[in-house]
Amino acid sequence: MNNPPFDPRSFRKKLAGVLGLGRSGQAVARLLAKKGFRVLGSDARPRAELKKALKGFPAGAKWEGGGHSDRLLKCAFVVKSPGLKPDLPILQKLREQGVPVYSELEIALAFSKAKGVVAVTGTNGKSTTTQLTWEIFKAGLPRGRKAILGGNIGVPISASAPAAHASDALIIEASSYQLEDSAHFEPRAAAILNITADHLDHHGSMATYVAAKAKIFREQGPGDACVFNADDPIVYKLSRECPSQRLYFGAPGSHVHAWEADGKLHFRLPGWKKERALTPPKLPGRHNIENALAAGLLAFARGLKAAAVQKVFTAFKGVEHRLEDCGAVRGVRCVNDSKATNVDSTFVALKAFEPQGKRLLLILGGLHKGSPYTPLKPWIEKTVKGIFTIGTAARRIEEDLGGLAPIFPCGDLATAVDAALRVAEKGDVLLLSPACASFDQFKDFEDRGRQFKALVRAAAGRR
Ligand code: ADP
Repeated sequence: MNNPPFDPRSFRKKLAGVLGLGRSGQAVARLLAKKGFRVLGSDARPRAELKKALKGFPAGAKWEGGGHSDRLLKCAFVVKSPGLKPDLPILQKLREQGVPVYSELEIALAFSKAKGVVAVTGTNGKSTTTQLTWEIFKAGLPRGRKAILGGNIGVPISASAPAAHASDALIIEASSYQLEDSAHFEPRAAAILNITADHLDHHGSMATYVAAKAKIFREQGPGDACVFNADDPIVYKLSRECPSQRLYFGAPGSHVHAWEADGKLHFRLPGWKKERALTPPKLPGRHNIENALAAGLLAFARGLKAAAVQKVFTAFKGVEHRLEDCGAVRGVRCVNDSKATNVDSTFVALKAFEPQGKRLLLILGGLHKGSPYTPLKPWIEKTVKGIFTIGTAARRIEEDLGGLAPIFPCGDLATAVDAALRVAEKGDVLLLSPACASFDQFKDFEDRGRQFKALVRAAAGRR
């Protein structure tokens, strides 16, 4: 079922299909048009809506809306956008006709000269770890070599990778959606941070989700490296299938190459005579320690120096919408964790606040994703004074968490911020960590986070 690797020369000037015209679809369409291909874009959105959204589509290229027609079967190859479900009928038809389907990632890399590809995946922590890794490479690569960021982190890889030089490093955030269609991805260094149930509606089962993540190392060779979380049972088990050098982070023990002890992050890679102890970034939570351990291992695996890693650990402020401190209102600290779109992320956020005791006013809710909220129970009991619900998930949250802390049904974010600040006492923390998708009331999680920050600014009189 695997296609041969994408080789632009074998499709010279042919018709290229692009399935799904979101941000990465449009970026790959632009790249292909620039490289001399004729492009046919195709998207399920109605024509009128699509036309407005096609701001970055190459001039002169053809497109269709309202579904995927058989015109795509005339293409020499098709690029599938990451969000599209693998069981789409058009994909079945393309397979039957023998039309190769590639991921955006594979196309982008085929046009890139950069040899040093570093990729990060995991259910949670990808963006934080990718950003941290990128900053370390920016600081640590010798003069004249650039670190280029791309992937699931806001910059489509087909927009950033093709400009890279051979000696540059490409730091890629790879989602399971991108990986599932990438049969020939072979990064020099990779990391799998954790794997818990998420996106199962897309992948169909946990087994296919795990198999998608595993594609980050499947094509690696013995000279490459892959970083694994030794404390995550699924990741640990999967690591045994890895053909490249395995590097582990986790609780201190003989089998790990990076661990935390006495407030320091310790690294000892195979072949090192002595370990290095670095001061961690000032970010809340055990999860951020894991992200830093993974980023450090990636840097060391690619030969970067400890001084560069330490410099960036010291300066790193975290990523917007991930436990982001957004100021205080009358002595109440406000934290924007809008990126917590699933129960696991909210779980780690609550854990990060454990040392403060029961001081949290927690805004939960949005669009229910299907998983129960009950795993949050022990942490709600330890850390939460009141729950303020928003969106359509509110009823399910009440069913799952009722009785552990007072629940205030608020409906929307503005009401929730207002209600929470009204009952808050000095020293409390107002936390937006909703455990739900945002699409019922917001454009996306960034929009939700920005609106939260604006409400906080307004409440603090800092409009
Ligand atoms: P991703 O890009 O994978 O969604 P982010 O770095 O954007 O990951 O973090 C998303 C959320 O996941 C954060 O708000 C945080 O609560 C949680 N998180 C971050 N890092 C980890 C980790 N290593 N393990 C578990 N949860 C994490």
